[in-house]
Amino acid sequence: NASRLLGKTVLITGASSGIGAATAILFAKAGTNILLLARREDALKTVQQACVAAHKESGLKEGGHFAPIQLDVSDKAAIASLWSKVPSSLRNVDILVNNAGYVVGRDSVGDIDESVIDGMFATNVLGLIAMTQLLVKDFKARKSGHVINIGSVAGIEAYVGGSIYCATKYAVNAFTGSLRKELVDTPIRVTEIQPGMVETEFSLVRFKGDSNAAKSVYVGLQPLTGEDIAEEIVWAASRPAHVNIAEQLIFPVNQA
Ligand code: NDP
Repeated sequence: NASRLLGKTVLITGASSGIGAATAILFAKAGTNILLLARREDALKTVQQACVAAHKESGLKEGGHFAPIQLDVSDKAAIASLWSKVPSSLRNVDILVNNAGYVVGRDSVGDIDESVIDGMFATNVLGLIAMTQLLVKDFKARKSGHVINIGSVAGIEAYVGGSIYCATKYAVNAFTGSLRKELVDTPIRVTEIQPGMVETEFSLVRFKGDSNAAKSVYVGLQPLTGEDIAEEIVWAASRPAHVNIAEQLIFPVNQA
């Protein structure tokens, strides 16, 4: 029941495109306020405008405040000073969506640059952990909150050419499972959403802007859309307070 989301404040990392942008727009329609975080300011402003339009269309009075905040989740100092960039009316976050993440290439282990390995771990794992630490501190103090981490099927099944990305998403899976158990005696909920193939900017980033290579990964199947995953995230967030959706694995119908 989406009415449970009315007036809540959501923080989404990686809100400038793909799953994060679609999730922001769907939360906006449900009457929430949103902190939109990512590195690209222009793209965040476009998503902010889409949120304003979606909220207006909903006709809801609650929510409707959307703040784009430039933040690189791999920058620990930037995370530590995040609250100084957040308008005071939006500092009580109810739902954290840790969505920022990426993969580069599909090289064999011996050919992967150290900087590529460090970059993926810094964003997909260490950034997610740092954001969680920051927010869980608040959630504990206010005795409520929901952490929603975006894992992947790559965090459950390793594949050739995905060694580092799979390792980061296995780490997300382990961290999220452990956190859920650690917080089991509190009202704080912890969810992991594990998408299969979703057509977003993800594949373009993976192949450094080569659109033919990016499209080649979807041959023979109809990929999911960012909206498909956004619906799962918003659904998990809108369950009654005593219900915790621990994990959700979502595939395109024709992905093995
Ligand atoms: P997109 O490339 O469209 O979106 C990724 C988002 O992450 C962008 O908003 C990007 O914004 C942001 N981001 C990347 N690095 C950083 C950083 N260091 N700091 C802050 N933001 C960052 O891809 P998706 O929407 O598909 O990906 C979202 C999540 O879903 C990722 O965690 C991905 O691993 C996961 N996923 C995706 C699948 C797919 O097939 N697409 C499958 C399974 C999981 P900006 O560049 O502006 O910083």
